[in-house]
Amino acid sequence: VLRIEGLRKAFGATEVLKGIDLSVAKGEAVVLLGASGSGKSTLLRCVNFLEIPSAGRVVIDGTAVGRERDGAVLYREAELIPIRAHVGMVFQHFNLFPHMTARENVMEGPRTVLRLPRAECRERAGRYLAKVGLADKMDAYPSHLSGGQQQRVAIARALAMEPRLMLFDEATSALDPELVGEVLQTMKDLSDEGMTMLIVTHELGFAYAVADKVLFLHDGRIHEEGPPDELLVRPREARTREFLRGHA
Ligand code: ATP
Ligand code: MG
Repeated sequence: VLRIEGLRKAFGATEVLKGIDLSVAKGEAVVLLGASGSGKSTLLRCVNFLEIPSAGRVVIDGTAVGRERDGAVLYREAELIPIRAHVGMVFQHFNLFPHMTARENVMEGPRTVLRLPRAECRERAGRYLAKVGLADKMDAYPSHLSGGQQQRVAIARALAMEPRLMLFDEATSALDPELVGEVLQTMKDLSDEGMTMLIVTHELGFAYAVADKVLFLHDGRIHEEGPPDELLVRPREARTREFLRGHA
């Protein structure tokens, strides 16, 4: 579903990503680990062109986005429309519209981006809110929901676009500890149902339970990768061991 080749990203003179190659196959859950500032968010943002890569290729379902020229990746706005429609993203801060109910928040993408009829958007919103366990909160405003419930609305909002790939950037790290579990469970259920996911998280237990593959980002490169029962249990690289010790 997703292939990244030779991806580089620099901010001014600072090269954050120095050549990333990775792929996420259909139905796979891939977890990306790395120290703060290692470029995990930058990498996810490059996948849907919220950040424009300096070099390299992002290929989604066989279609490359943009072309590399003169040290930058050039693209047409029109190329981004399918990516934005097919790639769902869930952030640390959920950014729901405060003046809209949970259902209205979830309806917004299908309405404005996919231009589906209102009745169909309503039906979709109901279906995806039920899927994340919020059938009884459809008409609640975000301020009346817990952080975990708000994040599940954000997940339903992404799902309502029926994406082929979901990106999660520390979706639980802004939550109170007692609310983390319900969101991780929702993510695990999604993965069990076959959703293709690229996940940045510091929750190593979750990574162990859900990941098909774990990648460790260090010094702008994928420093080590492997199945969770290898990378998380007996990493080969000293840097990986050091990182895992810090997050045990
Ligand atoms: P964290 O775990 O803290 O979320 P991260 O791995 O997601 O960290 P990024 O947010 O991708 O790291 O940032 C990687 C580096 O790129 C950092 O040094 C950051 O300061 C720098 N950076 C990110 N975005 C920008 C930007 N828009 N302009 C300049 N520098 C940036
Ligand atoms: Mg980040």
